[in-house]
Amino acid sequence: MQPGGRLMLAQLGLEDCLEEIDAQEAKYLAIYKDGKHATLPFPNDNKFPYEPVGRTLRNGRLVQRLRKKAASLSNVHLEEGSVKYLIEERGVVKGVTYKNSTGEETTAFAPLTVVCDGCYSNLRRSLVDNNEEVLSYMVGYITKNSRLEDPHSLHLISSKPLVCVIYQITSDEVRCVAEIPTDSIPSIANGEMSTFLKKTMAPQIPEIGNLREIFLKGIEEGLPEIKRTATKSMSTKLCDKKGVIVLGDAFNMRHPIIASGMMVALSDTLILRNLLRPLPNLGNTKKVSEVVKSFYIIRKPMSATVNTLANVFSQVLRATTDEAREGMRQGCFNYLWNGDFRTNGIIALLGGMNPRPLTLVLHLVAITFTSMGHMISHFPSPRRFWHSLRLFALALQMLGALLKDEGVKEMLIPTNAAAYRRTYMTTTKYIPTIAAGYVTC
Ligand SMILES: Cc1cc2nc3c(=O)[nH]c(=O)nc-3n(C[C@H](O)[C@H](O)[C@H](O)COP(=O)(O)OP(=O)(O)OC[C@H]3O[C@@H](n4cnc5c(N)ncnc54)[C@H](O)[C@@H]3O)c2cc1C
Repeated sequence: MQPGGRLMLAQLGLEDCLEEIDAQEAKYLAIYKDGKHATLPFPNDNKFPYEPVGRTLRNGRLVQRLRKKAASLSNVHLEEGSVKYLIEERGVVKGVTYKNSTGEETTAFAPLTVVCDGCYSNLRRSLVDNNEEVLSYMVGYITKNSRLEDPHSLHLISSKPLVCVIYQITSDEVRCVAEIPTDSIPSIANGEMSTFLKKTMAPQIPEIGNLREIFLKGIEEGLPEIKRTATKSMSTKLCDKKGVIVLGDAFNMRHPIIASGMMVALSDTLILRNLLRPLPNLGNTKKVSEVVKSFYIIRKPMSATVNTLANVFSQVLRATTDEAREGMRQGCFNYLWNGDFRTNGIIALLGGMNPRPLTLVLHLVAITFTSMGHMISHFPSPRRFWHSLRLFALALQMLGALLKDEGVKEMLIPTNAAAYRRTYMTTTKYIPTIAAGYVTC
């Protein structure tokens, strides 16, 4: 959970859910490439009204705490079940049909239904027609009874073909994750995956501290628990059905490399909470639709910044034999380990501490020029000059696609970002959450 995500939790009055789950403090991003490494702290930024420290944790424990807290409210009735489909009448969603814990099929009706059934969502298909793209796979396991020498960093290793990430998630457990391309995924069942992790990935894990030792220990001890998840990207589309709101991964996804999905979901929840709270009646579908339309604009500073950064990083940090792409990858690392205001700027964006799409665009332009300069100045030759021009074209192409996805106006006009900061990032005062009048699934 990035510092920006913690701020969102605090704004929702839920920060205590990070307690009693043995979550670890995350203060730095440590990056490793070709024998070099740098430890980059979340910067102290006067404009960020919260502690510049994130949390690494077991996701399930946080979710259980959130559920327990919701259930403790007198106006919440918690019912567990598997939703089969949405009930619609004349284009308005009226509720859900679900199978309850005893296996019985039953229904629940509400003036507003919130769909948040995650990245494998079935329910969203009947609401919006946007498609997700599978980008790669994340293969992960937990190394038990272990403590990293540097437990307060998210260790990002520039391995080939794709990155590895290692971080402490409880006081004695470390999560190890390797990203693998979609076309070359070894089988977990027949042991190919563990051989791949041991023989291909482990030698690329730096021997700094006990990183490699813990990576290998987990493969040997954790074989039955190696898990695989698809990384997906999905831009948002306005759902014009009435009586329903789609949230979380069912609504919008980005590459998980900067660990920000929960932060965007919490920011969205906070915005909707503020917009819905003044409505006397959630059954007023016209008013709720107006709220949803404004929600799509208000959320953009946080979501567009995080989505763009995650998608750019996932493309740029991919090892390749293409000289132009490799130049961009090296340029990105050079930019990150400068250790000056440029590093601080990128880390603040990554941590959700400065959700300004325009600032991100300026950093991306600067990274492009730094990479081009690095390519030409070290070994100037017509060939390298040509590759630096290709690098420029690639950067334009990448940025153009992302601007189109998120909206040129939303990315480049700074007033929306200023309004977001004023409304959602100025105070951490406790405000109780609304929890009545809708069902979530
Ligand atoms: C490999 C990986 C690593 C990540 N790491 C981070 C990270 O470090 N930090 C971060 O902020 N984000 C991270 N994310 C993203 C983050 O996990 C998601 O953005 C976040 O969990 C989205 O929350 P959600 O509630 O939308 O979906 P989920 O957390 O997936 O929850 C959906 C819930 O809906 C339930 N459900 C599904 N279908 C139904 C149904 N029909 N009826 C009833 N219930 C149903 C599921 O059982 C589940 O409990 C990562 C993602 C991936 C893939």
